[in-house]
Amino acid sequence: MKIIDLRSDTVTKPTAAMRAAMAEAEVGDDVYGEDPTVNRLQSMIAEMTGMEAALFASSGTQSNLLGVMSHCERGDEYIVGQHAHTYRFEGGGAAVLGSIQPQPLEFQEDGTLDLEEVVASIKPNDFHFARTRLLCLENTQEGKVIPLDYLERAEALARGRGLAIHLDGARAFNAAVKLGVPVREITMHFDTVSICLSKGLGAPVGSVLCGSKAVIEKARRWRKVLGGGMRQAGILAAAGIYALTHHVKRLAQDHENAKLLAEGLAQIEELGIDPSKVQTNMIFFSMDPSRFKALQTYLKGRGILISGREKVRLVTHLDVSRDGVGTTIEEFKNHFAKA
Ligand SMILES: *Cc1c(COP(=O)(O)O)cnc(C)c1O
Repeated sequence: MKIIDLRSDTVTKPTAAMRAAMAEAEVGDDVYGEDPTVNRLQSMIAEMTGMEAALFASSGTQSNLLGVMSHCERGDEYIVGQHAHTYRFEGGGAAVLGSIQPQPLEFQEDGTLDLEEVVASIKPNDFHFARTRLLCLENTQEGKVIPLDYLERAEALARGRGLAIHLDGARAFNAAVKLGVPVREITMHFDTVSICLSKGLGAPVGSVLCGSKAVIEKARRWRKVLGGGMRQAGILAAAGIYALTHHVKRLAQDHENAKLLAEGLAQIEELGIDPSKVQTNMIFFSMDPSRFKALQTYLKGRGILISGREKVRLVTHLDVSRDGVGTTIEEFKNHFAKA
């Protein structure tokens, strides 16, 4: 049975062509800066994002942490979304390892932070308070594309207030493809950007932090401290280069598949799915936990994997075909016809 795994876009497996590129990669010791493939990946992504430099990291959690730790010191603070990955889903790394305090704010409906609230949360320069140093945004945020004019305003706010600005751009390429712009139109508004190669882009491992030479040199030091200095990492970087070359434009297919899936599932009233809300590769719905369990078990028996906690999230990616979408809609309908 071919498994249709809608739990996340992290589940993609390297294609045969990607594996061939990995097998042929020229390698060296990257802690010495001598891995030509890692260096090539870093130059390539720096060029794409319009930054001076980039650093290959083992995960998005690590590259976000490197970003935060390169802008903030012990006793500093970063402003971040309440449900942002960099606050909620990274084990509290900035606080645990950097002694950096988060100031979480609720995301608005469109995935942005209210800029007036951001301003109001900046602490006065007074020793009672942590020093507010950094604003962190996320794009896409739960599949939502942050508008370019908002990014411009957020950047102006940060510059005006002397804050650094970091983007968790785990899925920045999904946002760029959706907007039909080069990714640098998004990344140009930030000091640092973390991009995941191992989500929809389909590489097995790896993320990159992009920024100025000075910030990336700081990040390189922290990466070593965190145990993230890898040696012949070119084998992994080769997958990243392959992904950036061959898997960016095709993200549009994942977006189209998510839309089709949402349209099909919208016919099941109980799910309350509004296809017009689907912008990229994610669909969300909520369901009573016990009914969800029954649905999940039914689908699993038919080779369809879904997951969720308070909210259920379906994600399309490289390994979900249009046929897979059709099968999924059919099996959802079968289940609800019986339930
Ligand atoms: C997946 C993800 C990350 C990084 O996750 P890793 O699993 O550590 O690579 C960061 N931010 C967002 C929004 C993500 O979805």
